[in-house]
Amino acid sequence: MDLIDALASQPLLYLGAALLLGLIVGSFLNVLVHRLPIMLQRQWQAEAREVLELPGIAEPERYDLFLPASQCPHCGHRIRPWENIPVLSYLMLRGRCSSCHSPISPRYPLVELGCAVITVYIAWHQGASSSALALMLLSWGLLAMSLIDIEHRLLPDVLVFPLLWLGLIVNAFELFAPLPDALWGAVAGYLSLWTVFWLFKMITGKEGMGYGDFKLLALIGAWGGWQILPLTLLLSSLLGAVIGLIVLRLKGQKASTPIPFGPYLAIAGWIALLWGGQITTSYLKYSGM
Ligand SMILES: [Zn+2]
Repeated sequence: MDLIDALASQPLLYLGAALLLGLIVGSFLNVLVHRLPIMLQRQWQAEAREVLELPGIAEPERYDLFLPASQCPHCGHRIRPWENIPVLSYLMLRGRCSSCHSPISPRYPLVELGCAVITVYIAWHQGASSSALALMLLSWGLLAMSLIDIEHRLLPDVLVFPLLWLGLIVNAFELFAPLPDALWGAVAGYLSLWTVFWLFKMITGKEGMGYGDFKLLALIGAWGGWQILPLTLLLSSLLGAVIGLIVLRLKGQKASTPIPFGPYLAIAGWIALLWGGQITTSYLKYSGM
């Protein structure tokens, strides 16, 4: 591919382009994470009213990822283009709305920055290649899902399924795993957590996770093949235990407080996909096997 060759011959230009792309996508993810749950909620309510044969609510104004234009939640001030530049605008405005001076959540620049760091890292780690582009798409999706899960305890199918299919499609070209391994990865990923869920429910009568978690592990298996599932599960449990305890301690909540498992699975799967081989090799080396 000409574009990939051109980028590969200009490493600085390539990393600079990745930085810019990461910031722009991060800005879009902020909109997605905020609006998608509201869009889904409205859709489910409309469907439920239809099933129950209740009169529909008068159609509110259009609300999707593009309209209405972003505005300040406090005063309704329309965000102008120069106030919408990733990270920079937040710094220039000193974290406040230009009209009513209400503070803007630091989450927005942090997501933009985080997305940019991940994108540049992948660009550097993978070099200019189709696998870099595929991994960027996966990472952006996992980031969006994690943020939505933290806030709403929800892993939307409209994000999980397209990425699951994409994992199988890229592995039809053996980008990360042979296609049969990816297929069985998706199957084993879903079934393993599904089994744990039902055993846990039969024994304790409680539900420890949601169906979104099974689908997310299926997605991870579709990208990395069934081989990365054990490491993913191990890492996600470790992360969940450590971070979960810290969060509970900080918030002073009881240990029974439900914590979304999706972000841990997403981080663990991402690590296993990028460094799984190295982690397993060094583990075997140091454990003397
Ligand atoms: Zn305002």
